[in-house]
Amino acid sequence: MSEKDEDFSGWYNTIIEEAGLIDKRYPIKGMDTWLPYGLKLRNLIDDIIDDEMERTNHDEYEFPLLIPQTEFQKEADHIEGFGAEVFWVTHGGETEFDIPLLLRPTSETAMYPLFKLWIRSHTDLPFKTYQTVNTFRYETKQTRSFIRVREIHFFEAHTAHATYEDAEAQIIEDLDILERMSDSLCMPFVLCKRPEWDKFAGAHYTIGADVLMPDLRALQLASVHHYKTNFAEPYEIEYEDEEGDFHHVHQTTYGMSERMIGAIVGVHGDDQGLRLPPEIAPQQVVIVPVIFDEASEDVLEACASAKETLTDAGFRAHVDDRDETAGFKYNDLEQKGVPLRVEIGPRDLENDNAVLVPRDARQDDVTIESQHAVKTLGGGKLVIPQADLVDAVEEQLEALKTRMRQAADALLEENLLTVKTIEEAKESMGVLRTWWCGDDTCAETIEEEGNKAVLGFPRTVEGDELVPVDKTTGSCVACQSETDQVIYMAKTY
Ligand SMILES: [Zn+2]
Repeated sequence: MSEKDEDFSGWYNTIIEEAGLIDKRYPIKGMDTWLPYGLKLRNLIDDIIDDEMERTNHDEYEFPLLIPQTEFQKEADHIEGFGAEVFWVTHGGETEFDIPLLLRPTSETAMYPLFKLWIRSHTDLPFKTYQTVNTFRYETKQTRSFIRVREIHFFEAHTAHATYEDAEAQIIEDLDILERMSDSLCMPFVLCKRPEWDKFAGAHYTIGADVLMPDLRALQLASVHHYKTNFAEPYEIEYEDEEGDFHHVHQTTYGMSERMIGAIVGVHGDDQGLRLPPEIAPQQVVIVPVIFDEASEDVLEACASAKETLTDAGFRAHVDDRDETAGFKYNDLEQKGVPLRVEIGPRDLENDNAVLVPRDARQDDVTIESQHAVKTLGGGKLVIPQADLVDAVEEQLEALKTRMRQAADALLEENLLTVKTIEEAKESMGVLRTWWCGDDTCAETIEEEGNKAVLGFPRTVEGDELVPVDKTTGSCVACQSETDQVIYMAKTY
């Protein structure tokens, strides 16, 4: 059995440090120090988000970190939901503030007092904004890097619309963005309309996207919320229509965080270390010179030239010229999850060849093929003519991406199980599909006796509408009465 299967949690904690993503030794619980490699990865994910925001006409803002208590308290459910997780700032030097300030746990209450000033007319709508900032939540549960932390690298889009329907259309756009993100990350997810008791504090409804981790627990990757006028009313965000009448705006938000990195580590990694999807890998291709004394200059030159060719073609390519053995480098590059390694040695040079080694080449269940290969070596290594380098690299990165997505899809599909009794729910792990009559007592039974959380009602986007994934009829898992409400549940992070 692999280390990852045997002790997922221990494996996770080890490989994120060995790969150089973060250092956990900062002396505050739940706050990690980002290391250069981790930051590069995070920035590449942020770049994809920025591009998506640009494509969909969202403007970037940056609001202050501190929020006055008086603003925070305006929406009753919101304060109830977040109150216990807030870090307070009560003093400036020796002086105690009349009104305490808090570190944003999320930014509704920072943004909306300004939205009130900026949004005046129907011509200001839709108003689409986002920011990527650090938020702070006083987690009391056990913390875990990227997954449950107290300082969170957080993306939040906030929009305002003239009508309820316009806000719903925004939700559909958000889910399309999420779908595109999941393609870049090779990361399948299930989409659920959260049950009433689990919606975002202050929301009209919440749609959550959950990833199934290899320990068969669900991890929320993203959430999208329709606020209706729930915040617009207390914050008095109104617009004037063409007739001169005033209306509250309908708002939405869309949130994602560094949890995406937690999901990437968990779902794609193996006993050798990380496996990064090519689109977000800080180094997509690393060229390792295989040096024997007599021909080292020529080999290094060939490596530099290969790097230049690949860089010109748009790849993030790098030459590993560290003074270490090839074996050390191979191991290190595998730990870091570099998608593709290129080896060039004196014999390759003589034949104008290069050797390509995809990150998963050593896996037993993977067959590496290339239409450019002149020869295949053991361990999934491909010998290709240097003249074909760019095409072969593109081919191999694409193939790796497909394999990563297929493996992640298989993990989810194989562990999406239908259960019909509480006993089955209790004994099963994965995303459990069942029926719920809608009764609160039954929900309590499901969560307590089934020892799972209700993720909600599975949804999918069809055209421009959010619709149930399946409408089959079954018996409520708790009381056995007939219902057509399919739910998903899971043990969650
Ligand atoms: Zn029931």
